Amino acid sequence: MAVPFVEGWDLVQTLGEGAYGEVQLAVNRKTEEAVAVKIVDMKRAAECPENIKKEICINKMLHHKNIVRFYGHRKEGNIQYLFLEYCRGGELFDRIEPDVGMPEHEAHSFFQQLIAGVEYLHGLGITHRDIKPENLLLDDRDQLKISDFGLATVFRHGGKERLLNKMCGTLPYVAPELIKTRGFHAEPVDVWSCGIVLTAMLAGELPWDQPNDACQEYCDWKEKKHYLNPWKKVDSVPLALLCKILTEHPDTRITIPGIKKERWFTKIIKKGLKRSRVSSGGGSDSPGNLFKHIRSEMELSQVSHSGDKTTYSSTQPEPRTAMPAWDSNPSLIDNLVQGKGLSFSQPACPDNMLLNSQLLGTPGSSQNPWQRLVKRMTRFFTRVDAENSYSTLKDNCEKMGYVCKKTCPNQVTLSTMDRRNNKLIFKVSVFEMEERILLDFRLSKGDGLEFKRHFLKIKKKLDDIVANQKLTLSTT
Ligand code: ATP
Repeated sequence: MAVPFVEGWDLVQTLGEGAYGEVQLAVNRKTEEAVAVKIVDMKRAAECPENIKKEICINKMLHHKNIVRFYGHRKEGNIQYLFLEYCRGGELFDRIEPDVGMPEHEAHSFFQQLIAGVEYLHGLGITHRDIKPENLLLDDRDQLKISDFGLATVFRHGGKERLLNKMCGTLPYVAPELIKTRGFHAEPVDVWSCGIVLTAMLAGELPWDQPNDACQEYCDWKEKKHYLNPWKKVDSVPLALLCKILTEHPDTRITIPGIKKERWFTKIIKKGLKRSRVSSGGGSDSPGNLFKHIRSEMELSQVSHSGDKTTYSSTQPEPRTAMPAWDSNPSLIDNLVQGKGLSFSQPACPDNMLLNSQLLGTPGSSQNPWQRLVKRMTRFFTRVDAENSYSTLKDNCEKMGYVCKKTCPNQVTLSTMDRRNNKLIFKVSVFEMEERILLDFRLSKGDGLEFKRHFLKIKKKLDDIVANQKLTLSTT
């Protein structure tokens, strides 16, 4: 639903939500320029107001092709607005097929970009501390962008390094020394989480709940039981690299310069190369087929609803959308942030960024073209009307044991516990788009891969109402 934001700009859709607020997509009505706006409620972040200041401060230092670009920020009462490059490709975890992963050449390219971004951060003396696929976004050209500097901190200043001692991050991605030791080096911790991301990309699952001796999977890894999952799905060359990254002792763990010399890292991987140790599945219900299906639907939503734009298939490179780059047309975003100049620390013209206090929904805005441009695979069209879509979803989900709550007229919140016994909460919005109903699933809390698993399970249950997309789109 489009909501007037700043003059000339609409908030068209929620892109995601976090602990202290949400991220909205703002689109310029005339130029269709898009900006992600992170809206942080300082009241909710009251216990650590310094965190948001730190996030802003660190963001201002960053300028790299593999880091989400920061345009500026603005405070309005208790609300902080952070204006960020909009990453149209969504989150990396959306590209990971549960229990399978992704083609090796894609994982290779994303990993190289991740390492380039982390190397840049470490060069500035900054550590991210929460590297995971949910914080790795993609632009419309599949360029990986490291996002969310809410936990980032400076570990080196004026050539002097300080040891860290704060436990922060996401347990399956944290390095063992963070759980065990009081003072630890920052860089090896980020390197470790890059290794977990690589595992998730190559095997479609996280190797353990946390890396300590109470966790059987972690002990099995230390005992080199590579014939077990997820390792048996990983080819021997990337596995050799993972062995060096997921090394318990940080002082013997491979460093970024070391990773860059590794055989797998420097290798040229041909597109379409099958991972030799992955079983091919085969049946029509295999996760591979499900994934292809989701992928084609995601692209179909762009094809069939593209209005007068050129139609394209998934085998062709995507055309650039009408989103002028910041560097080529800074003035509009400038206006959005604060008025004149690029000095974001002292807003020159506060009125420019005043929120429309009513935040009214615009009738008919559900067909805003920007909704179709948000690439998300966790969505599908149905063959029935909105009411039926909603009731079928609710009935089935309740039977499957989800707690369902209608949170607003076109949205239901589903909660459950995942297989690691962690809370998993996600929202399903029912959109009407050009007389068709789209069910759009978005993670609110919990692990991204688990969310994807649940999405696939629900989609399968709703098979009777899921629109068949195969007729209209050729897949690779
Ligand atoms: P958390 O509590 O998980 O740390 P947060 O409040 O710090 O979350 P972010 O992680 O920055 O919020 O963003 C939440 C979600 O919003 C992301 O996972 C992503 O899906 C979406 N998002 C954030 N920034 C962008 C962006 N620049 N472009 C597109 N989507 C974005």
